[in-house]
Amino acid sequence: MSTTSMHRPAGTADQKALVLFSGGQDSTTCLAWALARYKTVETVGFDYGQRHSVELECRTKVLEKLRAFSSDWDTRLGEDFMLDMRSLGTISDCSLTKEKEIEWEANGLPNTFVPARNLLFFTYAAALAYRRGATVLVGGMCETDYSGYPDCRDNTLKSLQVSLSLGLDSPMVIETPLMWLDKAQTWQLAHDLGGDELVNLVRFDTHTCYMGDHTHRHDWGYGCGQCPACKLRQAGWDEFSNQM
Ligand code: ZN
Repeated sequence: MSTTSMHRPAGTADQKALVLFSGGQDSTTCLAWALARYKTVETVGFDYGQRHSVELECRTKVLEKLRAFSSDWDTRLGEDFMLDMRSLGTISDCSLTKEKEIEWEANGLPNTFVPARNLLFFTYAAALAYRRGATVLVGGMCETDYSGYPDCRDNTLKSLQVSLSLGLDSPMVIETPLMWLDKAQTWQLAHDLGGDELVNLVRFDTHTCYMGDHTHRHDWGYGCGQCPACKLRQAGWDEFSNQM
C-alpha cells in the first residue's frame, strides 16, 4: 500500500515525535498523521487501571498493522513504551477506572472525567521525549466533539507546552491535529492519510467504547453502541460515510 504522499511541512523532516497512543480511533489517526510528517515516531501508552484492557490489547495490534500498512511507515515507526500510572486510578474516583454507571455530575462533567489525566500524561510523555531526543508530543485531544474535559482544551495544552518547554529548558511542542475537527472530519483525515485501507484499519482494529465491548460489530467498528463514546463514533461515521 502506498500512502498518500503528503507534503511535509518545513522543519519537520528531521524531527522525532512521541505520540500518546491508546489504540483508539483518535490516537491511531494522530499516529498516522505523525508518520506522514516526522522522520521518526515513537509511541507511549499509559496503564492507569482502566476497567477494560481491550484498548490496551488493541494498541499492539494497531501498531503491527500500521507497520504492515506501509514500508515507509514501518521505517519511521520506532519504539513503543508503556508507562505504569496505576496510582492515577487509585486517586481518581471515576467510571473509567471503577465499576460505576456513566453519569453527569453537578459541575456538568461526566464521571468519565479523570482529573488532570492529560496534564499528567503529557508531563510523563515530555520526560520520556526529553530522554529519547524527541521534540514534539502528539495527542488526539479535541475541543469540537468532546465531553467538556478541561484538560483537552486548546488553551490548557498551549499553556502546558510553555510550562514543559520552560521546565525542561528545551523546546517541547504539543501538536493536537484533531483539536478543531469533528468526528466525521477525523474519519476524513484517516482517509486523506491512507485511503479506504487506513479507514478500515481504524474502523475494525481500534477501540473507543467506554464499556470495553469488543464483541458487537457495527459499520463503524466494535462497541456496545450505547455509551457516549460509541454514539459519538457512530454519528461521525454516519456523517462521513454518507458523504463518500
Ligand atoms: Zn460503547
